[in-house]
Amino acid sequence: MASGAGPLVPAPSEARDGGAAGALDYHVKYTQADRVLSVELALAAGLGGRLEVDRAGASWVRGVAWSRGGGAFSPAKKDGATFVTGCGPAPCVVRYTYRLGEAAKAIDDVDTASDEREVVEAPPSTWLLVPSDAPQSTRARFHVETEPGVSFATGVYRSVSDPSAWEISLDDLQTSPYTVFGPLRRLDVTTPRAGLEVVVAPGALAASDAELRAWIENAARSVVGYFDGFPTPSALLVLLPGRGPWVGGGRSLAGGGATVLLRLGDTAKKHHLDEDWVLVHEMVHLGFPSVARKHTWAEEGLATYVEPIARVRAGLMSEADAWASLVQGLPNGLPKQGDKGLDRTPTWGRTYWGGALFYLLADVEIRRASQNARGLEHALRGILRAGGNNASRWPLTEALDVGDRACGVRVLRPLHARMGEAPMPVDLPALQRSLGVRVEPSGIRLDDRAELAHVRRAIMRGAP
Ligand SMILES: [Zn+2]
Repeated sequence: MASGAGPLVPAPSEARDGGAAGALDYHVKYTQADRVLSVELALAAGLGGRLEVDRAGASWVRGVAWSRGGGAFSPAKKDGATFVTGCGPAPCVVRYTYRLGEAAKAIDDVDTASDEREVVEAPPSTWLLVPSDAPQSTRARFHVETEPGVSFATGVYRSVSDPSAWEISLDDLQTSPYTVFGPLRRLDVTTPRAGLEVVVAPGALAASDAELRAWIENAARSVVGYFDGFPTPSALLVLLPGRGPWVGGGRSLAGGGATVLLRLGDTAKKHHLDEDWVLVHEMVHLGFPSVARKHTWAEEGLATYVEPIARVRAGLMSEADAWASLVQGLPNGLPKQGDKGLDRTPTWGRTYWGGALFYLLADVEIRRASQNARGLEHALRGILRAGGNNASRWPLTEALDVGDRACGVRVLRPLHARMGEAPMPVDLPALQRSLGVRVEPSGIRLDDRAELAHVRRAIMRGAP
């Protein structure tokens, strides 16, 4: 059974845990002129004695006041980075403002707050004041109001109980997806089986909307084809116009939702978009759980390895070109003198290409062990069916075990045992020869008489 008939993506996390919906209910107003958020937070009884935001953003919270049981508002006392209120014994309302524009200028880091000309980017962890002592499963629901001509867009999942709002657990809030406020333009795209929202920040672009649409739709189609569905129930793509002809600065952030953020050069033309790999790379990231920092190679290596294969399967790249990029890149992933295993050598080469080598070896071995009936994509689809997309945090070993079970062969976990702690030498030329990938002066030639030529074809085509 290559592809599950049921939905690939798990249900949004709303119903997953015991946190009471509506325990924290925010109404947020954004005004563009001063780039300030005015927030009213309704708290259930038992919550809110002490409130805090992400430490890096704490300096821009102003005027925190609280009212218990409908009484008059009293100012909260500031104690370091937290605000002390009389909330707790009864339901409470807290008001505050957040100087988002000033925070963005000062912090200038997309993971916390960044100033993108007329647009401000800041995940909700920066501007939602939350109770310090609330259980991590507590759910925060927020409505956002903007003026005409001004938009709000976030990768946070919509609330199931109130689709006009967004909802996230406090646990996921720490890595909440990129979020933007400002005069954004929405670009309607047609992406079957992928709930993708696209917003574009102000700025001149050489590429037409039709060219942007084709580029985004092709990328989504590649990822849907490889994973047999889009990895997350919904996702936001934010395009920030920049300088030059390139697509770059790609990042994804996905706790309790998913956003891909890209900088798109103002002179990028259709052929630059046709050659772009960054958007597919970022979307592939959404298809694997977030793992511990020492396993970053498992996330970056996957995106590096799967991106060209997904594009080949969607007809956007030739098999020879995909192998050429792998042949060129993979030597960067081999252990150098003094390197340790992948879990202990966080260099660029070992993270991106050492990780890619791990997945190539795994893909070949899964296909050999299953008589070419299964491949890496079946392991990844199994992990996704178990809820392991980028919006959730998993131990790496759990993801690898689930992947092995989905394929019915033990490959991923034993390979990690060999490559994680200690450096494992790999004879890349011999591996390429056995797959029938020949490097000739004129370029790559694919040899169908090679021992594992059937495996090579299955890797790129998805079927023997
Ligand atoms: Zn990446």
